[in-house]
Amino acid sequence: MTGPEQHDGMVYLVGAGPGDPGLLTLGGQAALARAEIVIYDHLVNARLLEHAPETAERIYVGKESAAHTLDQGQINQLMIDRARGGAVVVRLKGGDPFVFGRGGEEALALAQAGVHFQVIPGVTAGIAAAAYAGIPVTHRGLAGAVALVTGHESAGGEASAIDYHSLARFDGTLVFYMAVANLEAICRGLIEGGLASDTPAAIVRWGTMPNQEVLVDRVGGIGAKARQAGIRPPAVLVVGKTVSLREKIKWFELRPLYGQRIVVTRSATARPELTDELERLGAEVIEVPAIRFEPPADTAALDEAIAELASFDWVIFTSANAVEWFFAAVDRNGLDARSLAGVRICAIGPATADRLRHFGLRCDAQPGRFLASAIVEMLAAQEKLTGLRILCPRSDVAPDDLVEALANRGAEVHPVIAYRTVPAAADTTKLLELLRDNRIDWLTFTSSSTAANFLTAIGEENLRGRKARVASIGPVTSETLRRLGFPPTVDAKVHTVWGLVAAIMEHQTSQGSS
Ligand code: SAH
Repeated sequence: MTGPEQHDGMVYLVGAGPGDPGLLTLGGQAALARAEIVIYDHLVNARLLEHAPETAERIYVGKESAAHTLDQGQINQLMIDRARGGAVVVRLKGGDPFVFGRGGEEALALAQAGVHFQVIPGVTAGIAAAAYAGIPVTHRGLAGAVALVTGHESAGGEASAIDYHSLARFDGTLVFYMAVANLEAICRGLIEGGLASDTPAAIVRWGTMPNQEVLVDRVGGIGAKARQAGIRPPAVLVVGKTVSLREKIKWFELRPLYGQRIVVTRSATARPELTDELERLGAEVIEVPAIRFEPPADTAALDEAIAELASFDWVIFTSANAVEWFFAAVDRNGLDARSLAGVRICAIGPATADRLRHFGLRCDAQPGRFLASAIVEMLAAQEKLTGLRILCPRSDVAPDDLVEALANRGAEVHPVIAYRTVPAAADTTKLLELLRDNRIDWLTFTSSSTAANFLTAIGEENLRGRKARVASIGPVTSETLRRLGFPPTVDAKVHTVWGLVAAIMEHQTSQGSS
């Protein structure tokens, strides 16, 4: 028996799931985290690539006719060559790799070449899209079997036509993949094969994604309905009695923010928690990188302050980012949180306090409101500020009001730049189009700098008079927005991501009930 040759290279055939990035398996995520090369298809959600190291090479091999990149033989060869060269290769395929994904062919080629590989199954679109449409593919008493069928007569290179007679007799749910082009022919074929034309049928397009569309009819009518609606791929056709359960158990469309298109400005690196939370509640989130963060151009002042941390009475953190960058600098200096022993810590709000807790630190003071004056009042209530040494690690664009207010009370304030906020060069074409068409429902702002940079990047003229409402995380951001001429429609009562989401939901509910 000849086993695979000995080399360190490896190919993981990974199922990416149907679209919702939450439907990647933990095994798939772990493989991506180890990837040196990711070879991915057209229907793979690009967000999954964020699980791969930044250094991993990303190769798109989507097979849309317009952008035909590599043919199947070239893809196989690419995997083999890279694995032989010792690389960890992730072949990321939509849905499940072995369900109409040509994953079987790729595995055969790898086996033949003697390349090590593993298969990590994925959630297949036919089952997941149905589930997100409220359609169970099996159900006691209604469907005791499910068949996954290609609606593309020559899929996989086989020239065999679809056997409508046996499918029409199949006692269970039929799920057709790649069905859009042949939709009316498929339905006609099933009926001619003996299936009752009033059998319930559904089309689910972009299943599991925020823009999921569902059409329901009888198998005799769904073809024409889809044509009228202009349904285009990717979509599955589900035929069978369980389709009628959708009426009772549809859930996707009932989530509180379903149908809301919301803009979240993000830094170039971190995915904002805000996005996850809004999506969980059903919104379609458009992420616009408004700003990114960079280390200070000159770290001398910061390093010096860190070297003499013990000499300060207070450190005031005015953002979660300041905490992050401050401790990155502490670490760079070969130190850790113990350097803050004996120094009192103030956080401007709950998100900042929360980030401090990640470093094992509780804050000694946290004002109830997000304002410089609130901090000063609070510290002054604890002790006389005269002569107190106060360190304020912050962004290069932080407002000076806090430093000034503390200095006015006689404190010896040391503002140091812990990080710089720079505008991100974002591609805003899609967003501008959505704004123009009034298809954006909300713009969210979580800081003054994102607000200012966003308005600069998008251009005021593109925002004036649009339907998009403005949601602000707190009074400082709101003040900036007002000053820039975009007063917020809602203000978060609690100045956190969750407070912001709650404010939007409250507004939606009050609008809905009035
Ligand atoms: N291996 C994939 C299927 C690849 S074939 C899987 O297991 O899901 C591509 C077909 O899958 C599309 O033509 C469409 O019929 C279906 N499909 C993929 N993603 C889909 C989605 N999000 N919603 C509906 N259908 C989808």
